[in-house]
Amino acid sequence: MLTKNLTPTGQIYDDYTLIQEKNTDNLQPNKQDPFNPYIFKETTNLISDLLEKHLLQTDTRGLKLTDPSVLTERAKEMMVAESNYPASLDENRLLSILKLYLETGIPVQSKGYMGRQFSSPIPLSGITDFVSSIINQPSSFYEAAQLPNVVEKIIANKFFKLFGWNNNSPEMITTSGGSLANMTAILAARNNAYPDVWKEGYNKKSELLKPAIAVSETAHYSITRAAGILGIGENQIIKLETNDKYQIDITKAIITLNQAKAKGLNVFCLVASAGSTSVGAIDNLDELGAIAKKRDIWFHIDGAHGGAIILSDKLKDKLKGIDQADSIVIDAHKTLFVPGTCTLLFYKNKLKAKQAFQQQASYVFEKDEDIYTAYDSADKNFECTKRPMIMNLWVPWAVYGKSVFSRKLEYLFKLTQLAYNTINISNDFVAHHQPETNIFCFSYKPKNIIDIDTYDFQLAIRDVIKQDGRFFISKVMLENKTVLRVVFMNHNLKISDFEKLLDAIRLIGQKLLESKKHYN
Ligand SMILES: *Cc1c(COP(=O)(O)O)cnc(C)c1O
Repeated sequence: MLTKNLTPTGQIYDDYTLIQEKNTDNLQPNKQDPFNPYIFKETTNLISDLLEKHLLQTDTRGLKLTDPSVLTERAKEMMVAESNYPASLDENRLLSILKLYLETGIPVQSKGYMGRQFSSPIPLSGITDFVSSIINQPSSFYEAAQLPNVVEKIIANKFFKLFGWNNNSPEMITTSGGSLANMTAILAARNNAYPDVWKEGYNKKSELLKPAIAVSETAHYSITRAAGILGIGENQIIKLETNDKYQIDITKAIITLNQAKAKGLNVFCLVASAGSTSVGAIDNLDELGAIAKKRDIWFHIDGAHGGAIILSDKLKDKLKGIDQADSIVIDAHKTLFVPGTCTLLFYKNKLKAKQAFQQQASYVFEKDEDIYTAYDSADKNFECTKRPMIMNLWVPWAVYGKSVFSRKLEYLFKLTQLAYNTINISNDFVAHHQPETNIFCFSYKPKNIIDIDTYDFQLAIRDVIKQDGRFFISKVMLENKTVLRVVFMNHNLKISDFEKLLDAIRLIGQKLLESKKHYN
């Protein structure tokens, strides 16, 4: 017997709805149905007010770190008591949950935020992401996400032109992050050099020449990680030494590559950085491309951070030689100011893109492409269900034009040069490099500095800055020493904001030195 449960909150899940025709044309606001569209409207109004206030909070603030156990308790307290049916929407509960979410995040819109490679996104880009979440169109297949797959080609063609790839066969896919994109490109390169390995593993003749990857000693850890995952092995990562600008030293690179060959290693992939994570150094792409070509090595450019400057006429010369790449990675969620994640992976040769994953799966892959399935990307990207992430890039591009990205990048790069000049004319700070991008590393070196091996002064400064909660900066190891690192991602920053940071460092640094005196 079908019974109507008497719990009012459970109406929509009652057995009787199985047989009773529901009139969905006549939906009423019903707080007891979590799927009711009216709930959507009410809650989004609430949320947009909250987010607007959040975005307007641009005062100088860093990150307020909360003890995770305290935060766990607070989060638990906010959860409704479990019952057999969904609770009706309690706006106050929702608001306090969202406020906690905003409060505990890195304030990327603040002028105190100078620490990481992600930014406050272009609001329209975030809004597009929200739309994508509501309509939910996984984009590995054309039929599930038609517009995303079409605009992916539009965006791809713009970049192909800018790279100077004038042949007719390049390819672009989107993936969830630069790490996955780097791995996918290296996988394609591996399969290019070792066509049997996908099926046979490393058991065949191919074993005779050990696969290896050459990469800058400062390269992002995702490259080494890919070597581990792909069975190449971390030990087969050939580290190329860098020069005083933290770029791969070309003369030494040739020697190192020759030595690797003499040892029986087959370097099948050379990875250059276009914007290294630590200092933003851009390798000499032109010369490295020529070396790769001469040795018949796959040339991969990790432009996760800096590849985006190809969009700026003023900055793109820094990427001279990019046309020689076999594959290129650009993180739009870094230097194109869209929410994480949205990564573009480019291949000069379409066929090589297909080489990365050589699988058959009749439920998804079509053997004979038609005009629709030619747009599918599932055979070329690792993900099956995938966010239609390209929309977050395409919509602002379509609405504002590409200068929304290039103007901001140009501003940020100029600001970084100014910061470098400011450090250079000071007598108590030193610059560790001339910035190539919007990443800059420096140290506080006042006259009364205490230089003892056991005391990491720069790290101590960074830690106090973090606790102090006004600024958010990062640190990095350069030549085995900790240095301070800023990444300018907010175009509302002025050089005076950087000067305020320096003043804060001076105060903190002097206090630290004072307290050190008492210990010595
Ligand atoms: C950030 C970064 C990566 C990793 O990209 P994710 O999107 O964080 O996975 C790879 N390489 C470089 C140079 C980076 O700066």
